[in-house]
Amino acid sequence: MKQKHAVVIGAGFAGLSAATHLAINNFSVTLLEKNDSPGGRARKFESQGFTFDMGPSWYWMPDVFEDYFSHFGKKPTDYYELIRLDPSYSVIYGKDDVLDIPANLNEFKARLEEIEPGAAVQLDKFLAQAKYKYQVGIHDLVKRPSRSLMEFASLALVKDVMRMDIFQSMSSHVRKFFKSDKIIRLMEFPVLFLGGTAGNIPALYSLMNYADIALGTWYPKGGMHEIIKGMVALAEEKGVKIQYNAEVEEIEIEQGEAKRIRLTTGEKIRTDVVIAGADYHHVDKHLVNPKYSNYSEEYWDKRVLAPSSLIFYLGIGKKLTNLRHHNLFFDEPLAPHADAIYTNPRWPEAPLFYACVPSVTDGMVAPANMENLFLLIPLAPDLEDSEEMREKYYEMIMDRMEEITGQEIRSHVVFKRSYALSDFKADYHAYKGNAYGLANTLKQTALLKPSLKNKKVSNLFYTGQLTVPGPGVPPSLISGYVVAKEVIRENS
Ligand SMILES: Cc1cc2nc3c(=O)[nH]c(=O)nc-3n(C[C@H](O)[C@H](O)[C@H](O)COP(=O)(O)OP(=O)(O)OC[C@H]3O[C@@H](n4cnc5c(N)ncnc54)[C@H](O)[C@@H]3O)c2cc1C
Repeated sequence: MKQKHAVVIGAGFAGLSAATHLAINNFSVTLLEKNDSPGGRARKFESQGFTFDMGPSWYWMPDVFEDYFSHFGKKPTDYYELIRLDPSYSVIYGKDDVLDIPANLNEFKARLEEIEPGAAVQLDKFLAQAKYKYQVGIHDLVKRPSRSLMEFASLALVKDVMRMDIFQSMSSHVRKFFKSDKIIRLMEFPVLFLGGTAGNIPALYSLMNYADIALGTWYPKGGMHEIIKGMVALAEEKGVKIQYNAEVEEIEIEQGEAKRIRLTTGEKIRTDVVIAGADYHHVDKHLVNPKYSNYSEEYWDKRVLAPSSLIFYLGIGKKLTNLRHHNLFFDEPLAPHADAIYTNPRWPEAPLFYACVPSVTDGMVAPANMENLFLLIPLAPDLEDSEEMREKYYEMIMDRMEEITGQEIRSHVVFKRSYALSDFKADYHAYKGNAYGLANTLKQTALLKPSLKNKKVSNLFYTGQLTVPGPGVPPSLISGYVVAKEVIRENS
């Protein structure tokens, strides 16, 4: 069969995954990336001996990564070394009120039992359901392209869908098992990765608790970007040609068929099929002629986006104490912060935040006797972002962190860079400056997500965190696989 040429836009997880899957299925593939390095949200930068992962830091669902590399006869360990973290992470409820989450399940249960007698037995029941959801959800449902209801029509699956708790919220589900506020907050935490709150995320996603508690929190030595490095090496080995500093300006469409890609440099590339892994809204509204747009501005405006973030990448000129690799500062109530993100968008009065110190595990990411500190505050998308506001929040969370961990940090900062909404827009064309796509609310699940295929252009497909199956590194990897399978099916 004559080899077809595919252009993939965007070298994030989804674009790299789609490109490599096409390359082993008789497509010649060009991958176009606007930035000068691969990874998209998962890029890295280096300065003064520090190596900062710019986005993701939690490596969950190791089986999804194994699955990905196995499609090409490889293993993750062919590209990076994985370390299981213990404790998995630390939840800071206040000064002297810190819960380390042990990697060992029995130790974890013992910890819960101390907080709420009977919680260990309840956890077993909770996890049994979560495991079932994980197996069906991650190994089946998320791999469906969600283009037709018929994909979900088999009786077995309909029964499964009922067992999957799609119509109940995580919030009420968790409360059926646990009473302690501390445990409830702990069990509700993983849905934050899905861009929503426990109140608006379906209980299907207790599968995330299974991923957290049973499968563990891992760390690729050298940082999360090592995954991207591995994926790029694999893509190139399979023949994908990657062009950096190659920003797409237009997908040229004639009679409902994408024919060429035009770059901002004026260069044109002929193509038989296009997979857009750049932010869906950007492609839909800026790269195609409006008559071929899949959705209206009004549609996009009504989507519930996952939060944006204010991030600080800090180099600390000493070793820190009382901080683990992953630290969740839950020393303020979640409800007002969630309200500031979803209901009445504003800069939050007293935000929860997350501190990652990968140098606790990995000496490669900071100079000797120094620390690599990444701070993240989730924010509503589309907020006004100014240097003044960034600084105000820097001081606010530093005050809390210094007080709670009992040490001076600010005076030891030797490197500082902030990153927020305007950077997401400039670097990734992120709609409203979102950090990780669309929230996985019930009304934005499966068929109700922006479709992975354009309705009016026969050879234009989409992948990544704004289409199926949703936000996060594992879903983005799967998204690339799912869209490639659709392209291969339609072209065979
Ligand atoms: C701060 C942060 C923390 C996160 N933490 C975690 C975590 O701990 N664990 C986890 O699993 N997930 C996490 N996520 C989510 C995860 O990183 C994303 O869901 C995932 O990386 C998205 O991959 P993608 O390929 O869909 O999109 P992207 O990574 O955004 O890739 C899209 C690419 O398209 C390129 N592009 C855009 N426009 C054009 C154009 N016109 N021409 C050419 N190229 C273009 C962009 O430059 C980009 O490289 C986090 C995300 C962020 C931002």
